[in-house]
Amino acid sequence: MPTSSAPVKIAVLGCGTVGTQVVRLLLEQADDLAARVGAPVDLAGVYVRDTSKPRDAVVPVGLLTSDAEALVDQADVVVELMGGMEPARALILRALARGAAVVTANKALLATHGAELHEAADAAGADLYYEAAVAGAIPLVRPVRESLAGDRVTKILGIVNGTTNYVLDEMTTKGLNYDDVVAEAQRLGYAEADPTADVGGHDAAAKAAILASLAFHQRVALDDVYCEGITEVTADDIIAAKETGRVIKLLAVAEQADAGVTVRVHPALLPKDHPLANVRGAFNAVFVEAEAAGELMFYGQGAGGAPTASAVLGDVVSVARHKANGGKGPRESNYARHEVLPMDAAMTRYAVRMSVADRPGVLAQVASIFAEHEVGIESVRQMAGRGHAGLILSTHRAPESALRATVEALRGADSVNDVWSVLRIEGEA
Ligand code: NAP
Repeated sequence: MPTSSAPVKIAVLGCGTVGTQVVRLLLEQADDLAARVGAPVDLAGVYVRDTSKPRDAVVPVGLLTSDAEALVDQADVVVELMGGMEPARALILRALARGAAVVTANKALLATHGAELHEAADAAGADLYYEAAVAGAIPLVRPVRESLAGDRVTKILGIVNGTTNYVLDEMTTKGLNYDDVVAEAQRLGYAEADPTADVGGHDAAAKAAILASLAFHQRVALDDVYCEGITEVTADDIIAAKETGRVIKLLAVAEQADAGVTVRVHPALLPKDHPLANVRGAFNAVFVEAEAAGELMFYGQGAGGAPTASAVLGDVVSVARHKANGGKGPRESNYARHEVLPMDAAMTRYAVRMSVADRPGVLAQVASIFAEHEVGIESVRQMAGRGHAGLILSTHRAPESALRATVEALRGADSVNDVWSVLRIEGEA
C-alpha cells in the first residue's frame, strides 16, 4: 500500500507504438505501481500531435491533449516517447528546469544532445533515466551505469538493432539476397518504409554512443561513432563467412585501447560458436567484458511496444520512488578523458576476400603486400574459379589504417583481379 498520500503525477509525451503500451501499463497496474512506489501514480495526460486520430481503446480520449507545455508544467515525472529532436528536446529541458524527473526512450536525442540534457538534469537536481533508449526491454543502461560502477569495462560488443539482425539472419539461414529480405521485412513490419536509420547503422550508432558514454565514464557523441551499415553485405559474403565457420552480424563495438577508446558500428564476422552468433531474428544481445566481472551477456527483445514499455515503466517506478520518498538517481559520470580514436586507429582482425589470377607465384605476391604493410596473415583459404582463384585471407590484429593501405596496394597489383570484400572479425582471440 502507498505510504504517501500525495500522488506522483505522470505526463506521457507521445502515444504511438511505445506510448500506447506505457499508458496501458500505467492504468492497468496502477495499484501495484502505487504499492511499489509508495504513493499513488496518476497519469495526468498524454500529449499527441493529433487528438482526433483513432487510437487503441486502452488510451482514454479524455487524457489526450495537444498542449504539451501545460501538461509538462503540472507533472512530477515526464515520460518522453515522441522521438525526434524537437519538440522533444525543448520539452525535456522545460521539465528538467522545473525539477521534474524525465524518462525517455529517445536514443537519437540522447546521442546528439546528451551533454545538454545531463547538464540540465544536474543543474536542477532532477533525474534523467533512459533504460529503453538502448536495446528495448533488455536491462542494460542500469547494469552498466550502476552494477558495473565499481569495475572497469574494457569492451562492449552488441547486436542492438533488431531489423538488421533479422535481415542478416534471413540471408544466412535462407540464402536470400539483401533486397529481397528487406522487402519482406517491410511487408512483415520488421523494417520501416524508409529503413535507412536501421540498415545504415545510424540507430545502432546512437546506442553505441550511449553505451560507450556509460561504460567509459565520458561523453561520446553520435559524431564520434564510426558507422557502416549492412547495405553492402552480399549473399556471397554470407556464403564465404559460412565456409570459414563464421556468421555476419551488425555489431556496435566500444573498446578501450592503450591510446584511447574506439566506438564503431559495422558488419563483422563472428565465429559461429560465439554467443552473439546465435542471436536470431529481431532479438538483441550485448556482450560486456569488464576487468573484474569478466564476460557478461544481456539478451532479449530490443524493440516493440510492450517490451520497450517494460523498460520505460521500470524507470518510471525508480524516479517516482525518489519523488515520493526522497533521493535521486546517479548523476552522469563523465570524469574520464580518454581520446575517442579515429577509425584508422582501431585494431581488429580482418577477412579479405578477393579474386586473383590462377598462376604460380600469385600467393607469394599477395603475401608480400600484406607483409609490406605489417598486416600478419593468420590463414588463407582458396576457392577455385574459372581462370581465377578466389581467396579468403584472415589476418592477425592490425590497425585499420594498415589494412586500408594493404587493400589499396592489392587493388593495384597485377595478380589481383578484384578485392570483393573486407570484413572485420570480432570475437576471436
Ligand atoms: P511512434 O509510434 O512514431 O509514436 C510517436 C508518438 O509521438 C505519436 O503518438 C505522435 O503523435 C507523437 N509525436 C511525434 N512527433 C510529435 C510532435 N512533433 N508533436 C507532438 N506529438 C508528436 O514512435 P514509437 O515507435 O512509439 O517511438 C517513440 C520513442 O521510443 C522514439 O524515441 C523511439 O526511438 C523510441 N523507441 C522505440 C522503440 C520501438 O520499438 N518502437 C524501441 C525503443 C525505443 P500522433 O499519434 O498524434 O501522431
